[in-house]
Amino acid sequence: MERNINLDEISDGKLYGGNDLVKTDCHGCKGCFDCCRGMGSSILLDPFDLYQIEKYQNATFEELLKNRIELNVVDGIILPNLKMVGSDERCSFLSDEGRCNIHGFRPGFCRLFPLGRLYEDRSFKYFLQVNECKYKNKTKIKVQKWINTADIKKYEEFINEWHYYIKELQEILKGTQDNALIKKINLYILNNFYMIPYNTNHIFQKLKLPSLVGMLLTGMILSPYALNLLDDSILSISPDLRKLALVIILTRAGLAMDMEDLKKVGRPAVLMCFIPASFEILGVVVLAPKLLGVSIIEAAVIGTVLAAVSPEYYQ
Ligand code: SF4
Ligand code: SF4
Repeated sequence: MERNINLDEISDGKLYGGNDLVKTDCHGCKGCFDCCRGMGSSILLDPFDLYQIEKYQNATFEELLKNRIELNVVDGIILPNLKMVGSDERCSFLSDEGRCNIHGFRPGFCRLFPLGRLYEDRSFKYFLQVNECKYKNKTKIKVQKWINTADIKKYEEFINEWHYYIKELQEILKGTQDNALIKKINLYILNNFYMIPYNTNHIFQKLKLPSLVGMLLTGMILSPYALNLLDDSILSISPDLRKLALVIILTRAGLAMDMEDLKKVGRPAVLMCFIPASFEILGVVVLAPKLLGVSIIEAAVIGTVLAAVSPEYYQ
């Protein structure tokens, strides 16, 4: 959830990266569970949070909706959040002894607290909310150790992409009164990011097959070419959503390119980049002058453009 805040009022005025030391370590909280109650609907869950909880609890999204999580509208988008229950508004995962029942799989928001994220220029930094945790003798700890998530680099990339993806959709919804579009986008988010893929992932992981195979098969089975179970409203916006997904994938691939990794994979990677593109260009240079009546130079330009955007074909 995005908040308009004055950082000077709530933080120590500093911004932190994953490797910086920050004064948050409350040494196991020592019996305190203040940030596990009275949080209203503020502990939002991203798809990775839900995936972790579903896996650990061996429960589906629908089962969790019965008493663990709830849905609320956040700036136009329906998103899940942890449910607070009882007269003292406790998190539904808090034990009677005041311990977290899903500690190893707790959501990102819980791992982060009392840190927050400040998003700027399609990236983010952490800040310390100085008034949130009342524990007196906190000591310094590295931000990434505090968050304690496997492969923090990938996790941060995901968090950033998810934030801006949702923000873009929220902007679209802010500017429309079209109830059908609002419904379509919300159904799409819930179905595709919180329900279908992650449930099928479980099955494929148990079969020791990549979960991507599960997602592809699920899409094929649900599609109009097989069981035709997808709502028309989702299918009608699928070209736009595919384009958005492609932009995210290509941006992510570009930003994640690391020279060290390229050096490690070496010659095969270079060949896989250049050989298909070279053949595409060569094919167009040979065929286009005969078929389209263009010059060789024009054919070379067309071939280069086609080779550069060929991932688009996979839509
Ligand atoms: S408020 Fe601080 S000490 Fe209390 S549970 Fe939260 S993080 Fe731990
Ligand atoms: S999931 Fe665990 S850490 Fe997070 S609010 Fe609930 S009890 Fe607290």
